[in-house]
Amino acid sequence: MKALAPNAAPFPALEVAGVSHSYGKRVALESVSFCVAQSSFTALLGLNGAGKTTLFSLVTRLFAARSGHIDVLGFDLARAPSQALRRMGVVFQARTLDLDLSIAQNLAYHAALHGLFPRDARARSEALLARFGLAHRMKDKVRDLSGGEMRRVEIARALLHRPRLLLLDEPTVGLDIAARADLLAHVRGLVRGEAVGVLWATHLIDEIDQGDDVVVLHVGRVLDRGKVGDVVNRAGARTIGEAFRKLTGIAEPEGASS
Ligand code: ATP
Repeated sequence: MKALAPNAAPFPALEVAGVSHSYGKRVALESVSFCVAQSSFTALLGLNGAGKTTLFSLVTRLFAARSGHIDVLGFDLARAPSQALRRMGVVFQARTLDLDLSIAQNLAYHAALHGLFPRDARARSEALLARFGLAHRMKDKVRDLSGGEMRRVEIARALLHRPRLLLLDEPTVGLDIAARADLLAHVRGLVRGEAVGVLWATHLIDEIDQGDDVVVLHVGRVLDRGKVGDVVNRAGARTIGEAFRKLTGIAEPEGASS
C-alpha cells in the first residue's frame, strides 16, 4: 500500500500531483504538478501572488488539499500525515524564533516537540550549529543575531529531526547580497552533505543555478518545470530570466541580469 511505503530511493522527496486551491472564488493554484527529487535543489520561481505560499500551506497541511495529492518520500500526506510530516522540515517566510530565548533554548524547545531525547537534541543542535557557523553563539539571545544568522538558526532548527525534505519559503527576503549568497551556499551544502531534497521558493532569478531543477509558477499555474538548461532550451531563451519572460509574457524578475 502506498501509504505504508518505506523511505526507498525511488520515491521523490516531494511529489505534488494535480493540486488546486481556491480562496472563495479566487483561484490560487490550478492543477499544479511537479516533483522534488531526493538530494536535489528545486527552485520554485514565481512573482508575488504566483501561489508559492499557498502551495507551502498545502504541503505543510496548514490547509488540506481538496484535489490532487501530495506525497512525501512516498507517504501520502492525506492518508499518512504523521509519516509524511515527520520527514519534512520547514522554514516559513515569516520568522518564528523566540527572540528572548537563546539559540540553544529555541532548538531545545523544537526538539522536544519532535520527541527527541534531550541528550540527542543537544548533540544534534551542536552539530548543526557548527555546520552553520554558529556553534560559538549557542548561548546568545536570538534578538542579538543578524537577519542572516537568524535564518541559519531557523534552518538548523528545521533539520533537527533529520527530515529528508526541506521547504523554504523566500528565505532570503530582507537579507543583503552577502547573507543571501551565504545562506544559499549552506543550503546547497545540505543537498550534497545530508541528501536532503530542497524546495526553495523565490522570486529572485540570481538564486537559481544552471544545475538546479526549477518550477516556474505563474498566477497559480506551472508554466514549465525541469532542469534549468532544459527549461531555458524549451523556451528558446539564453538564460532562465529570459525563459521566465518568454513563458509569462512579463518583465524578468529581479536579479535577471546575473
Ligand atoms: P507572495 O510572494 O506575495 O507571498 P505567493 O506566490 O506566495 O506570493 P500566495 O500568497 O500563495 O502567492 O497567493 C496566491 C493568490 O492567492 C494571490 O492572488 C493572493 O491574493 C491569494 N490569496 C492568498 N492568501 C489568501 C487568503 N487568505 N484569502 C484570499 N486570497 C488569498
